[in-house]
Amino acid sequence: MSRERSQMTLDLDWGQGRRLLWVDGVNSAVMAHLVLMDDPDAIPVHCDLGTSVHEDSHRFVNDLEQWYGKEIVRLRSEEFANIDEVFERRKYLSGMNGAPCTGYMKFDPRELFERPSDLHHWGYTADKLDAKRFDGMLADYPFMKQRAPLIEMGMKKRDTHALLRQHGIRRPIVYDLGFPNGNCIGCVKSSSPNYWALIRKEFPEVFERRADQCRRFGARLVILGRTKDETGKTVNIRGFLDEIPADQSTKVRGADFGGCGFHCKSEAA
Ligand code: SF4
Repeated sequence: MSRERSQMTLDLDWGQGRRLLWVDGVNSAVMAHLVLMDDPDAIPVHCDLGTSVHEDSHRFVNDLEQWYGKEIVRLRSEEFANIDEVFERRKYLSGMNGAPCTGYMKFDPRELFERPSDLHHWGYTADKLDAKRFDGMLADYPFMKQRAPLIEMGMKKRDTHALLRQHGIRRPIVYDLGFPNGNCIGCVKSSSPNYWALIRKEFPEVFERRADQCRRFGARLVILGRTKDETGKTVNIRGFLDEIPADQSTKVRGADFGGCGFHCKSEAA
């Protein structure tokens, strides 16, 4: 064997890598628009969660294609048509180990599509909690090339919504119903009683289904209150969805929980 060439050397040409623009809700939609103005060859990509999201969210993605003047690549799970199929198969909703829906319907299709050389662009905004979520992504995936253009530009959620309005693009209807993001209807990442009370009001069938899943799989998804433990530390009182009081407020604060990025796993608790 020749000693001139190390066996550790691989002749791989990774090229310059693609610029992937992960499009989902309002913030990422605006992020992709801004990057595409600078680089029309960047590739908008969307994880299609099928019937898990409101049908108007699909209309939104179609409208974005018209706005961008180019196709949005849609990635779908090869195994699951929607999040309910994941929950029923796994008999698990969300907990310390995260939410399985994200893994099966977002991580797996993304991993099949991405290359190590890709540069990923996310829609995290300069709002404090969102910027923190991006810090989490950088910490969790140090070998992934990532940028958050809206943070770099100092753009907040109010700016992205205003820009979309200026361009005449109708945001997904769920925002107008009072939801803070375009996540799946009945997103298991949320532990907010207000969020679930809003789901109960707007989408009673989904609420009933999720409440039944909670009981069957033993998932105390919602934080019903707070108390002190024996050491004086504040701890959450968790409960089932059907334990939420009938008069629970339906006002959801934007900061209650973020959009469904690829970070749901570490946010779910
Ligand atoms: S939005 Fe919520 S329910 Fe949907 S995939 Fe993400 S974590 Fe799961």
